[in-house]
Amino acid sequence: MKVIVLGGGVVGVATAYFLNEAGHEVSVIERREGPGLETSFANAGQISVSHAAPWARPELPGQLLRWMGRRDAPFRMVPRLDPGMWRWGLAFLRNCAPARFRRNAARLRRLSVYSQGMLTRVRESTGIEFDHSARGILSVFRTPRAWDAAAGHAEALRDEGVDKEILDARECLRREPALGDAATPVAGGVYSPLDECGDAHIFTRELAGHCARAGVRFRYGERARSIAVADGAATGVATDAGFRDADAVVVAMGSESPLFVRPLGIALPVYPVKGYSVTVPVADRGKVPSRGIADEERKVVIARLGDRLRAAGAAELAGHDRRVDERRARSVLEPLLELFPNGGDLARAVLWTGLRPMTPDGSPVIGRTGIRGLFLNTGHGSLGWTLACGSAKLLSDMTGGRDADIDPSEWALDRYRS
Ligand SMILES: Cc1cc2nc3c(=O)[nH]c(=O)nc-3n(C[C@H](O)[C@H](O)[C@H](O)COP(=O)(O)OP(=O)(O)OC[C@H]3O[C@@H](n4cnc5c(N)ncnc54)[C@H](O)[C@@H]3O)c2cc1C
Repeated sequence: MKVIVLGGGVVGVATAYFLNEAGHEVSVIERREGPGLETSFANAGQISVSHAAPWARPELPGQLLRWMGRRDAPFRMVPRLDPGMWRWGLAFLRNCAPARFRRNAARLRRLSVYSQGMLTRVRESTGIEFDHSARGILSVFRTPRAWDAAAGHAEALRDEGVDKEILDARECLRREPALGDAATPVAGGVYSPLDECGDAHIFTRELAGHCARAGVRFRYGERARSIAVADGAATGVATDAGFRDADAVVVAMGSESPLFVRPLGIALPVYPVKGYSVTVPVADRGKVPSRGIADEERKVVIARLGDRLRAAGAAELAGHDRRVDERRARSVLEPLLELFPNGGDLARAVLWTGLRPMTPDGSPVIGRTGIRGLFLNTGHGSLGWTLACGSAKLLSDMTGGRDADIDPSEWALDRYRS
């Protein structure tokens, strides 16, 4: 079957890999000059298998009220005359109800565990390298109160089979001696041994190279304009370089996906949630962490990616605006400076923003549409790197009509109709 994948981010390229592996004739249309140059470019690098929880959670509405009006708040809305933003915001708040949160979190956990297996399979069968490390993620807390609350939550997760270790301050320092320089000493931590780190952009670039050698055609610098439909079936894609015919089309365009499918009558509840990252070269290897660190009170995560240190966080509902606001960027840099003041070369810090393609329930939309041969693999929000390989394998199985390894109905767009 001839399949076109729209979008060459981490999700699109992973999808192309599994479709090619399944024997299809695959091409990827990407408007940028190479793969992974949008949201997949400088994310936090965390493969958060045991951290994969939706942002819409019971405590969030109260936190939003406390953060209101603060320019450096971890979550912020820049009000606009955009009905889509308000509709999405209300649906997001509805998903904070405890029962919905529990259901959404369990669904995400299933996909993240499956996805880790698929990422390992891709890594081992291709041999690609992407500053990968599998040393877990340590969540740190500055106040005993926050640590106590987190320890309780970790206990509950442990009862559900999620691997978590509760560490006191001494044990945190023993595992990560660089924390000894922290401006405010850590009160304790929770360690998630299964989690990993890696550079999503390098992964996407290397995997795209592997796919190209295996026969996938990459059309970079080509912008998709519309999907052609005849007799209820997708027949190809009109682009700024002409018409590309296909038996099946997969939309993996991140935050652009809902705008692209709207003319076909498909209402995709995906909205961009802007985030920031700051990347600094490692200045002193003894002064930086060896694994992923999550500063849970400041909502910032830190990854060691080879000889670079990256901090990422902040969430902003501001439409498709990608501009860097210095103050917001500083709110991401400061926790890095407080925890590891002597590790990075700040004079060479690189600031970046990206748009997380977020659904109200935090899970991606993977699967068929009402149009035959038109598939969706998008809406991965804050977890696209973690979930990319599992989502791609699932989508590839559905496209080929094979039985999927995990229940595909959970990810369908239909869940928003009920
Ligand atoms: C600050 C920040 C930190 C993050 N940290 C993590 C993390 O630690 N772990 C994790 O798992 N996830 C993380 N994420 C989320 C993750 O980065 C995203 O979920 C993921 O990159 C989305 O991948 P994608 O392929 O769907 O989208 P994208 O990477 O945006 O790819 C979509 C592609 O479609 C292309 N496209 C769009 N329109 C067209 C068109 N008309 N024609 C052709 N091409 C088009 C774009 O150019 C783009 O390359 C983070 C995100 C941010 C912003």
